[in-house]
Amino acid sequence: MDLFEYQGKQYFARYDIPVSPGGVATTVDEAVAQADAAGYPVVIKAQVQVGGRGKAGGIKLATNAGEVRLHAGNILGMDIRGHIVHKVWVENASDIKKEYYASFTLDRGARKHLAMVSARGGVDIEQVAAEEPEAIVRRHIDPAAGLSHDDALEIVKDAHLDEEAQAGAADILVKLYRCYVEGDADLAEINPLILTPDGRVHALDAKVSLDGNAAFRHPEWAAFEGTESDDPREQMARERGLQYVGLDGSVGIIANGAGLAMSTLDVVNQVGGSPANFLDIGGGASAAVMANALELVNADPKVRAIFINIFGGITRGEEVANGIVTALGRVTISSPIVIRLDGTNAAEGRAILKDHESDRLMSRPTMVEAARVAVALARA
Ligand code: GDP
Ligand code: MN
Repeated sequence: MDLFEYQGKQYFARYDIPVSPGGVATTVDEAVAQADAAGYPVVIKAQVQVGGRGKAGGIKLATNAGEVRLHAGNILGMDIRGHIVHKVWVENASDIKKEYYASFTLDRGARKHLAMVSARGGVDIEQVAAEEPEAIVRRHIDPAAGLSHDDALEIVKDAHLDEEAQAGAADILVKLYRCYVEGDADLAEINPLILTPDGRVHALDAKVSLDGNAAFRHPEWAAFEGTESDDPREQMARERGLQYVGLDGSVGIIANGAGLAMSTLDVVNQVGGSPANFLDIGGGASAAVMANALELVNADPKVRAIFINIFGGITRGEEVANGIVTALGRVTISSPIVIRLDGTNAAEGRAILKDHESDRLMSRPTMVEAARVAVALARA
């Protein structure tokens, strides 16, 4: 889950990483109010999940309310490489003496964390990386050993950060590492990390990507949800804790296990249909999970038929069947359902479904047969 800059700065603040005071605005009037609160001069920054905002004209300085109106008016609604700006972040502007770069990411190949620090931060870091890779210090960090203040100091010295910035930068590096590890981020990047004329070091930009697999231990991430994708179906799936990817077809898919769900998409394609989604309800899914999944797929207006493909291992057939019956009782399912139920307690499951079978709910013994029927129904 990628965060917007303003959210990344909120996340940084939890780990005591210094950022400038500011606030978000969705209208010009709000931008002026935020600027008045932050104190002039301010910088107005487009909130889109794409880099190079500065070069695209999405970042402007304003010294008074009139300039805030002008720039916020221009930036709101702007298209920055396909991303429309719906929000701006308005913060108290900093005086910049130097711009540095600092980040932590995971180096899967090395099975270690990777710190990258450069004295040549700012909007041209990609160019620096391409033309002068030696200007970026890369240091692996053993996750078991962590990063001490001394380690951090060594890194910033190796990167030739200015003497007066070294202690402050090392301090931020240690905090950024904590933010990255304890905060369960895949990426925590500050570009630029600045040195001000009065010798302070702080984060002027924030790029944070959170590891969705760790969401269960971060209830505070709920505030960030809905940022990753504009697809309302995926948003609904996240709220329900379901592994879902929205697609463009008309056959809604529910399967247990990622492998079976993928195969189900393939088989639907193979018999000439197109899946509306990927949805894996996981192993050992309860009736409640099945009901939840069915409601989610049913809410997709593109869905014309629903194919439920379950091979029971830990998941038991009667749980699946009870889930379907529960969902049928809770909401009006607008598309016909075809189910292929096999594996553990499949017979018990089929017996439960038997009483509910109709031209809106039918069972087929094999995956390919069920797929054919679902595809035909989606076309009807
Ligand atoms: P990006 O272009 O999307 O990476 O956006 P950044 O937040 O990194 O801003 C781009 C550039 O705008 C920075 O490298 C700075 O040079 C400049 N900038 C951003 N905030 C300020 C500020 O408070 N004061 C000044 N003087 N420049 C700023
Ligand atoms: Mn930046």
